[in-house]
Parts: sequence; C-alpha cells; structure tokens
Amino acid sequence: MSASELARQIAGGDTTAVAVCEAHLDRIKAIEPKVSAFNTVTAERALDRARALDVHQRAGKPLGPLHGVPVAIKDNMCTAGVPTTASSKILRGFVPPYSATVVARLEAAGAVMLGKTNLDEFAMGSSTENSALGPTKNPWDLDRTPGGSSGGSAAAVAGRMVPLALGSDTGGSIRQPAALCGIVGLKPTYGRVSRYGLMAFASSLDQIGPFSCTVEDAALAFQVIGGHDAHDATSSTEAMPDLLASLTGEVKGLRIGVPKAFLGEGVDAPVLAAFHEAMKSLAARGATLVDIELPHAGYGIPVYYLIATAEASSNLARYDGVRYGHRTTIEKDDTLLTMYERSRDEGFGAEVKRRIMLGTYVLSAGYYDAYYLKAQQVRTLLRRDFEHVFASVDVVATPTTPTPAFKLGEKTSDPIQMYLNDIFTVSANLTGLPAISVPCGFSADRLPIGFQLTGRMFDEATLLRAADSYQRDTAFHTEAPAFA
Ligand code: GLN
Repeated sequence: MSASELARQIAGGDTTAVAVCEAHLDRIKAIEPKVSAFNTVTAERALDRARALDVHQRAGKPLGPLHGVPVAIKDNMCTAGVPTTASSKILRGFVPPYSATVVARLEAAGAVMLGKTNLDEFAMGSSTENSALGPTKNPWDLDRTPGGSSGGSAAAVAGRMVPLALGSDTGGSIRQPAALCGIVGLKPTYGRVSRYGLMAFASSLDQIGPFSCTVEDAALAFQVIGGHDAHDATSSTEAMPDLLASLTGEVKGLRIGVPKAFLGEGVDAPVLAAFHEAMKSLAARGATLVDIELPHAGYGIPVYYLIATAEASSNLARYDGVRYGHRTTIEKDDTLLTMYERSRDEGFGAEVKRRIMLGTYVLSAGYYDAYYLKAQQVRTLLRRDFEHVFASVDVVATPTTPTPAFKLGEKTSDPIQMYLNDIFTVSANLTGLPAISVPCGFSADRLPIGFQLTGRMFDEATLLRAADSYQRDTAFHTEAPAFA
C-alpha cells in the first residue's frame, strides 16, 4: 500500500499504526536478508512509537499527514539516539545527539522510522558498493546493484519494506537508484529542504528528497520535509505551495524540452525506447514536445567531479579521530599528526580517499585556476543553458540513466565508467534545479527504466503534476519485484 493509502486507512480506523508497523517489520524480516538495504533496523523504537501514536489517535487528538506511516532514512542523516554511520568505518559507533530537520519533521508529521539505510560511504558512488558494510542488492535482480549512493533507501522501497524513504542527492543519488529500482525519486530545488543534520559531502550540491512508488507519496513527503529552516544557512525562504493540490492530472499545454543531441551516444537502446514511449504518452495527454539544445551538458561529469571532490576534501577534514567515531590505537611515539593520519587512513575507504586527494589537488595553489575555477565557470555556462531553455519550455526531459541496473562488481575497478552513470543527473545539482525520476518501463530481462524531468527553480509543483499525470496512464509504478 502507498504511504497516502496507509495514512488514510489508519486515520479512518481501518487499521492501526501498530498493525502497519508490524506488517512492515515482518516484510523486512523476510526480504532484508536477501537485499541488505538496512544498516540498522529500529524495530523496538518503531513499535514503541507506533503504540504511542495509536494512543494519541484514540485520545481524539489531531493526526499528522503521515500518522503511522513507516519510513526509512539514509544513514547519512542524523537520528538522535540511533547510530548514524554514513556507511563508513570512521563513524562506527557514532550516535548523534540530535536529529536532522527532515527526520524531526517526518516524525512530527506522525511517520514511524523503521531503520537507517545503506549507502556508498559518505554518499560517494553510484552502486552502494563503496559501503564499508557491504553492498545492497537490487530487489529486481539480486546479482545487480540498486544504484547509489542512496541504494539502501531505493531497495527498501522497491522491495516493499517501507512505502517511503529519504535519500540525499549530490549528483544523482536519489534519481539514479530510483530509476534502477523502478520507483519515484525527487531531488528538490537547492535550498528547498534543510540540510541540517545531513552529513555534508558537497555542500553546494547536496539536497535531501523522497523515494516512493507513487508521485502522490513523493508530493506528500516533500510537503512535510520542505520549507525554510533557520538551522541551515542555505535554506530558502520561498513559500512551499500546496503540492497535493497541484496534482490535477492536467498537462495540456505543458511544453517539454527534449535535448536530442544529448541523448545519442552511450545510451542503451531499450532505455531510449522506453524514454520516447513515455514522451509519447505525455504528448497524448496534451503536452507539447519541443527540440532543445543544452550545449554545455556534455561537460557535466568533469565539472561535477571537480567541484564535488573539492568540497568533499574540505568537508571531510572534520573526521580527524578527535571529535567523531574512529580513533587509531595510539602508540608511544605518536605525534598528533600521526594520530590524525592513521585514524583517517584506517577509517576511510578507497573511493573516499581518492576523492579527498583529487579534491585537495584541484584546490591547491597552481592548479586552482586551471581546474576548480574553470569548473565553476563552466557551471555558470550550464546554468545559462537551462535559463535559456526555460524561456521556451516548462520542463526538460531525458532518461535518468544511460543503462538499467548493472551487475555488482561490473564497474568497481573502473571509476570513470562508474562516474559516467551520472551523465543525465549531475546537471540538476550543478544548476540547483529540481528534478524527478519516474519509472517508465523494463528492459528485456525485466530491469526497471526511468525517465527524468528537470524543472525551473522552486517549481517542483510542475514536475510532480507532470509525473503524476503520467502515472495515471501507466502501471509501471505498480509492478513489484517477483521474489518473496
Ligand atoms: N554518483 C555520484 C557520485 O559518486 C553522485 C553521488 C550523490 O549524489 N551523492 O558522486
């Protein structure tokens, strides 16, 4: 059942928060051993909360919009009293003293957290294979990756263990796993959702958003977590619209820009075919397809991997063996510096080290102008491409990923191949624009495919309206993996 349907049934007295919680915990018990979506399952905490919510309801008190709805949280968002590891050895044993704003808002709305989900270490990756706790498997094919970095959240929703989960998206980490797992993933506009309590990877790119099966659920969750937060200096004061009211089903007159030249090389034929079918379906509902060009989109990957690594090298300096998590065993002759060095060497995995080195390099004197500054300049050109395009279209459509889910181990030895996964997703982070991935078909071997819509700044409403309209005509989002 969707989150919206569960909330309706609990509110209507057809079932209880405890019954819903138990049913989902049973499902986790059955599926999780095969999928490994969770770092921590908080069963006791969840049942306690569900009991309290039922008492609250029986007392006739007003119910939040997610009253009794089970959710999962990516393990790079702080949860008071519940271990939060970012799937890194360096944070083993870290228990945050406070909750991220998104977690506090979900709980204030009545949601019940069932656990913390796996990710690529510090959200650096596209497959969850960079997790220090082992990879998550794709529920559609257990030999394949669910995508990443929010692969645990995506697999938990795709495996029907929770109807709703949160991820973070720095270069595609919500949309890519959503596409590979056959579910919906929304990356809101930069500044829309508070990053307070999110472990920073690249602060000018990071944004939190929901995973769900239906667009209606994504709208519901986004409504709850979005909006200004004084704890995040980059949080926008732009008012949140009524997103559920914007789901009218209507796309007549909506202009959808399709960047044809950008969709050629390296995109699998079944992905392209499913994408074009989806565009046809939206056109049949009254939208207009417009040919557009994004001349600088092809630079997205190099620009992203310069800016993201530069910011990561700075953000991850705080993990020093003093304030959080892992500290090396101190030997007699150790200096403070060797303590820092060994703690970081023991605590960080290979990909995180690669990015810290790359990022430190591009920021260093003599290279800054050639790499970091140049990347920022091209970022501006990319932003202008979209500004130009949004003068004549309302949304931009592309496939979300160039291929369906790849095999575990297939790309781990070749970081460039892994990075190329993000070709369609990094633009939205570099520009700050909102984007959504929606399931739109399957490959011949029944692997999910998704398409992506990118919208104007703060115009999630149009994205959600178009995506919901598409779901009214299609059933891809209702299909679940065959196992269990
Ligand atoms: N796959 C991209 C990376 O490895 C994006 C990750 C993300 O969005 N957190 O950086």
